[in-house]
Amino acid sequence: MKRAQPITAATRFISATSGPICHQTLSTQLPKKPPAQPKVIVLSRPVGITIGISLLPMSLSKIAVASRIKKPAVRPELRREWLRRNETEGESPPEIAKQDGYDVRTVRKQIEIERQERVLTGELENLAGTVEHIEENLRLLEVRLEGAVEGEVWDGLGRLARVVRTKGHLDYYDAAQRECASPQALAEDITLCRRLSSLSEVTPEVLAVKSYLDRVTLRENEGELAMDRVSLHEQLKLENLLANPHVWPSVEALFDWFKSRYRAVYLAHHQDYYRETSSHRLSLENAKPGLEALRRLNSITELGAPLGQELAGEYKYLLSKTRPCPEKGSEVLPELEPVCSTCSLSLTDEPPRDEMERFLAGLRRALEQQHRRLSAQAIRQILAQSEDSRIDQFIKVIQTSDLSSLANVMDDELVEFLCYLLAEACTEPFPLLSRIRERFSLIEEGQTEEVVSEFRTLLEEGFAEAKRRNPGKRVQISPE
Ligand SMILES: [Zn+2]
Repeated sequence: MKRAQPITAATRFISATSGPICHQTLSTQLPKKPPAQPKVIVLSRPVGITIGISLLPMSLSKIAVASRIKKPAVRPELRREWLRRNETEGESPPEIAKQDGYDVRTVRKQIEIERQERVLTGELENLAGTVEHIEENLRLLEVRLEGAVEGEVWDGLGRLARVVRTKGHLDYYDAAQRECASPQALAEDITLCRRLSSLSEVTPEVLAVKSYLDRVTLRENEGELAMDRVSLHEQLKLENLLANPHVWPSVEALFDWFKSRYRAVYLAHHQDYYRETSSHRLSLENAKPGLEALRRLNSITELGAPLGQELAGEYKYLLSKTRPCPEKGSEVLPELEPVCSTCSLSLTDEPPRDEMERFLAGLRRALEQQHRRLSAQAIRQILAQSEDSRIDQFIKVIQTSDLSSLANVMDDELVEFLCYLLAEACTEPFPLLSRIRERFSLIEEGQTEEVVSEFRTLLEEGFAEAKRRNPGKRVQISPE
């Protein structure tokens, strides 16, 4: 503590923090020595105390101004005790004076001094908290706004933090002298703190606006909105906000105007998007039997290599792309969300028109090709011999080239049947000619019936044997 310091220096520091009101107060004659006990003055609580700056200098200055009394030497503990008795036990200053052997005037002064000291301590704590809060918010703004706070600003806040983290007016005075080159320097630090505190108080709003704008995507035709967004980004730069924190209300107003127009555009887009995708979804549902028929046809290896194998994957993808969103109307967009919180649809998202077109065309092509394969003459003839009603239907389908009907009649049983029909016949050698030769080395004209009969018998034997060797398969005989 620098108690030997002339009080005029102390008052200069204090007046630097207090503005014109205290200058007037300080124009009175000051003592040559620092006060053993400050003079009692009555303080009224100033308006706008929220950040604790305005009360602090006024308290100190008035205490300092009031430092002309050399007596009495009342210890701080006794002063606190008098204030406690006065406030909590209701003892009046005359009662305390009488009981403790002091004069009433002294008791009154000491109680008031203690009261002011308490207010001062509270305000210093508040201010220390404010500086800390400002520092935290500036760090946050540096990261989120991708800017940098100048070193001078950090220095000023650091000095002020060390000055206000003190207890009592004498400590405060010592710290101010140690940290600040002049009363003017301290006044500048406090002005800086006052300016930054207004930015600090709106930090959550600034970050919310920044986050909103960062998540907004605009289409190319949204020129006016795009320009406003650029302007907002410009005004949200940290250096701009640090230099002009008072512009925040106008930035906020521009943001509200931007948001109201953006919301209208987004809500209309959300509605149009899902109206269109619901019709795509219907087309997909209609295409499902065709896709299933293709899968079954592809399983018939006799028809050739499978076709359109990528279509099943595309179908799944398109189903996911056309999933409906349950949100409707203005509920789609919560107040601080730039996209629907359920589906996260962006303004630039478009329904999968091209993919839908490609998928449906691909499916159609694959089915047509499989159909052509099935329509081959040989197959038609074989199928036409069957009396099975489903096969009749199948033949008709092929003849009329009705693809959707083809999809309806195709099932696993029919596929199995077709596999059987299309399977290559098993060829078995059979000594038909050699046996005829053994039996009839020479054939007379009258033996025609006998030879034909023998031929039929041998053929039946041959087929029976071939079928026994190839159960369930189509067989043919190679006569030897
Ligand atoms: Zn949605």
